[in-house]
Amino acid sequence: MKVLLVDDSKVARELTAWYLTEMGHPVVQAPDGKTALALYRSENPDIVLLDVEMPEMNGYAVAREMRKNAEERWVPIIFLSGRVGDDDVALGIEAGGDDYIAKPVGPVVLKAKLNAMRRITEMQSRLLEMSRQLQQVNRELVTLSSSDGLTGIANRRTFDRSLELEWQRGLRSAKPLALVISDVDFFKRYNDTYGHHEGDACLRAVAGALAGAVSRPADVVARFGGEEFVVLLPETDIDGAVVVAEQLAEAVRALRLRHEKSDAAPHVTMSFGVASCVPAHALTSDRLVETADQALYEAKSAGRDRVRARPLAVETSA
Ligand code: GH3
Ligand code: MG
Ligand code: MG
Ligand code: MG
Repeated sequence: MKVLLVDDSKVARELTAWYLTEMGHPVVQAPDGKTALALYRSENPDIVLLDVEMPEMNGYAVAREMRKNAEERWVPIIFLSGRVGDDDVALGIEAGGDDYIAKPVGPVVLKAKLNAMRRITEMQSRLLEMSRQLQQVNRELVTLSSSDGLTGIANRRTFDRSLELEWQRGLRSAKPLALVISDVDFFKRYNDTYGHHEGDACLRAVAGALAGAVSRPADVVARFGGEEFVVLLPETDIDGAVVVAEQLAEAVRALRLRHEKSDAAPHVTMSFGVASCVPAHALTSDRLVETADQALYEAKSAGRDRVRARPLAVETSA
């Protein structure tokens, strides 16, 4: 352990330093508080042995300074003092110290206390490492549970949560919320023709194209299930959403994935249903999803590879 040894008495300091060196600990010495604080920052000691009675800045004041910007690494501080009464111990702990050694410092007690502190610091760094790993695993779990395993984009769960969140936000802001539901055309035939493996690859490519075609940070592209994808567009009215849906359709066409059994085009295409409304208490987010779904059905019936939109508003009885 690298020891920062602070003592204004040169004789006492040299003796303690000698013990420490004999025990195999590298020592950095400071004759006063100011030097101690500078070395504390530059030398990164593993432990601080701190004389209490020093002119100008006493040991308690030095400890308080050291504890002020305590980073995540905890460095034990042991006070050295001729007076070790109850009040002294209390003051030392309050200042941020961890233990006391009565002066004059002898090698037996010094060795024992250093060992005790080493045990604690080792335990602490193991704990720190464990909590770092936990945080990492936690981050990975959050990503896993919110994204779709096949395509890597947001999953249904994330979409449901985003929809609820944006619906609530829309209720407050009275700004429109748009939804686009899309479905790959003749995808069963695609699987039957090229195999399930190619089918999966197609879904990954489609997901990438859709995700790359939206521009606002708040837009959410998610896999709704199977070969269906949804795009949630906050603060977007129906006209704006239709423009986005056309861009999405074009992005999928632009992949030019061969689909010889499709009746819509010689390549993979999708149909899109668009709905938008200003969230209101007389409506529900489910109604928005249903309406977009109806528009998708219309796009399919009208020949696929196209966008259809349906308005949704609170019915006003005459
Ligand atoms: P339509 O143009 O009317 O949408 O025709 P379709 O064939 O796409 O519609 P249908 O719902 O009959 O078929 C959807 C197909 O999508 C059936 C299913 O096997 C396939 N599918 C769903 N999920 C996956 C998946 O994760 N991977 C693969 N490869 N295929 C999937
Ligand atoms: Mg002193
Ligand atoms: Mg489908
Ligand atoms: Mg389909």
